[in-house]
Amino acid sequence: MARAVTAKTMRGVVFIHAETGTEGGWLAFQDAKHIGTRTEQRCRKCAAWWHGDENEPDGDRRIGDFVMRSCKRGEHDVGPVELPSWDYAGLYVLEDGDFLTIYDKDALGAVLWTGEVALVHPPMSDGMRTRPAYRVPADFMRWFALTYPALLTRKAKA
Ligand SMILES: [Zn+2]
Repeated sequence: MARAVTAKTMRGVVFIHAETGTEGGWLAFQDAKHIGTRTEQRCRKCAAWWHGDENEPDGDRRIGDFVMRSCKRGEHDVGPVELPSWDYAGLYVLEDGDFLTIYDKDALGAVLWTGEVALVHPPMSDGMRTRPAYRVPADFMRWFALTYPALLTRKAKA
């Protein structure tokens, strides 16, 4: 008898999950049911964090493979900005076999990408497992950095 494969589909957002002690970040999905809100002092135009005037961001910043648009010094509009806060209960680091659909933030409902997540697993090095690379389109990092809406379908572990 064939084993029944169950899967669950969740609505949420994609984001880059970075933890202290890990290099870079992981492409992840946050279930909308477990998203809370927090308020931070940020620029309302470019979303730059605010750490005081002497650290005021000045123009575009490069983060890894993508460029984060940022206002020039003196052009920021700083105030309280409500942002999503993550919860481990609804956090899914993307795995092989996950089926993901990413939607546009601006043109509501437009599908930007849909498909199965495929990771490139490098060989073991000195008995250590090195982090897998994501085989994804170039725009992926930007969508994840800006927490685009998404659907994730994950198969239940057999
Ligand atoms: Zn700004």
